[in-house]
Amino acid sequence: MLEHLRRPALYVVATPIGNLGDVSARALEILRSVDLIAAEDTRVTGALLAHFGIDKPMLAVHQHNERRALARVLAALGEGHALALAADAGTPAISDPGAILVRAVRAAGHAVVPIPGPSALAAAWSVSGMSGPFLFYGFLPARPAERRRTLASLARLRFALVFYEAPHRVLDTALDLARVLGGSRRVALARELTKLFETVHECELDELADWLQADANRQRGEFVLIVSAASDEPPQDEVAEKALRVLLEDLAPAQAARLAARIAGVPRAALYERAVKLRGARGEDD
Ligand code: SAM
Repeated sequence: MLEHLRRPALYVVATPIGNLGDVSARALEILRSVDLIAAEDTRVTGALLAHFGIDKPMLAVHQHNERRALARVLAALGEGHALALAADAGTPAISDPGAILVRAVRAAGHAVVPIPGPSALAAAWSVSGMSGPFLFYGFLPARPAERRRTLASLARLRFALVFYEAPHRVLDTALDLARVLGGSRRVALARELTKLFETVHECELDELADWLQADANRQRGEFVLIVSAASDEPPQDEVAEKALRVLLEDLAPAQAARLAARIAGVPRAALYERAVKLRGARGEDD
């Protein structure tokens, strides 16, 4: 069904995060019908448009020129045009430019219309197996000290945490996640979603770095990392975990669990299971 295009209006259009088959019929219709497309990278959006036989004037709107490009967008809307905004992949304004434009266009009294579709965030969450509330953080700071400080500020939140990560930083981030958030939290790594080498791997945080290093290909591509929420369990569990890890360096799981339970004042049964798991992860025999 053909959509009645509003003019003036800014259509915020989600595009595929890999598989071009994920573009929606409505997204294509809008891209075909607008007068101008504001694109994060005109080459990337140009390739998408060419694939679908669409030829449109484009305007670059990236994070370094979003404010400047705004003047041109507002002028085009002022002349009664319909515009689309597209990011390189996924939904604009999610760890991508768009928010400044959206705010200003609405403040100027023009319509802003979402054309929903792919997003790495939603795709990764949907296959993570996690439930409950989550906090979408996006990209962590690139500098290690700042990254760890940021993680420390998130460590106690009772929300699952969702991060975007680039291939050259995924290993360092995996190590920091375990170090700062605690190795026993679950993590789901979603890599290259909708693409040929799509991978979803779930493990504990202190197993993630080893998994990434076991095969160089595992550090290639685009990543979403989802860490389970900090647990509601009382802080004794942290004491127990620390004690268990230290004791396991010299003792068998049963003995380590018994002593750690006494140190932390927690039941022994759960600690024994944990001890066996930790020992197994290290590939050691009882
Ligand atoms: N706005 C986009 C969205 O809605 O998904 C995200 C843009 S952000 C600049 C790019 C990051 O998204 C990548 O570094 C990666 O963390 C994540 N990402 C994008 N495509 C992905 C894919 N196919 N699989 C996994 N992660 C992806």
